[in-house]
Amino acid sequence: MHYHQKTIKQKVQISGKGLHTNRQIDMTLCPGSINSGIWFLRTDKPGNKPVKVTSQNVSDTILATTVGQGPESVSTIEHFMSALGCLGINNLFIEINGPETPVFDGSSLPWIELLRNAGLRTLNSLRPYYAVRRPFEMTLGDKMIAMVPDHELVIDFTIDFPGFIQNQRKSFTFTENGFVSDISPARTFCLLSDVEKMQAAGKALGGGLDNAVVVSGNGIILNREGLRFPDECVRHKILDFYGDMTLAEAPILGRFTVVKSGHSLNHKFLATILNTPGLLELVTPTRVPGETYVSLVSPSPALNAAWAN
Ligand SMILES: [Zn+2]
Repeated sequence: MHYHQKTIKQKVQISGKGLHTNRQIDMTLCPGSINSGIWFLRTDKPGNKPVKVTSQNVSDTILATTVGQGPESVSTIEHFMSALGCLGINNLFIEINGPETPVFDGSSLPWIELLRNAGLRTLNSLRPYYAVRRPFEMTLGDKMIAMVPDHELVIDFTIDFPGFIQNQRKSFTFTENGFVSDISPARTFCLLSDVEKMQAAGKALGGGLDNAVVVSGNGIILNREGLRFPDECVRHKILDFYGDMTLAEAPILGRFTVVKSGHSLNHKFLATILNTPGLLELVTPTRVPGETYVSLVSPSPALNAAWAN
């Protein structure tokens, strides 16, 4: 849990290939001030307005998470967002000269290394978080997300692609170091036949063995270096889910049980829990005088007591 708001120490420029466009994309990350949030500005078209990264601004969830409309939109933000969430960065202004963030190796680790190298700045303001107050569940076909109250963030994810990736399940309790070592290196994955289909449709043009785990129809991993974890695929799904939940703009503490979900259900679920009164409560932590420690006392003990009963 990050109790203080954060940004980066200095401006940093990065470049990399876009997964879907296969174009070189340049990004400039600029420090943001307290309560400013995460913003993208597409600089490749003059007159564009910046787009705030929020649940309300999600415009597309097919294959990736996209915010903003038309020439102002930015796609494939989930791996970048999961890195920001992991490090607790909640204020950042990003100039980008193309429609998607660079893919790098298909994981979040390069983003985390880059942001840590840029240096983080802790801002003099505590950061509110959401506490789950009531259980809630949403299904979409065979996909499901359920949440219940908890004092920490737990993501319990199950995937099953028969004949391709058999049942994988992992439960992850969020800590920054745990996310960096166990979740952030997990790469995106796909079936070889899907890559061929996507490329025929003009998508995933930059996709390949250097930025995804590619699995043949009979479940053989085509990457020469093999997997980074035996259950790398479910770890990547936790990475994606966590990245999508950062669009709440405040960390969420609760236990999430997720089965086969993808970006579409993730964002439908997030929009619903943010807009349904009583499911989440925005809590502002209170500082303990004389200590850097921040107490986790909820301002509404009545609600806690109600749940405990
Ligand atoms: Zn992903």
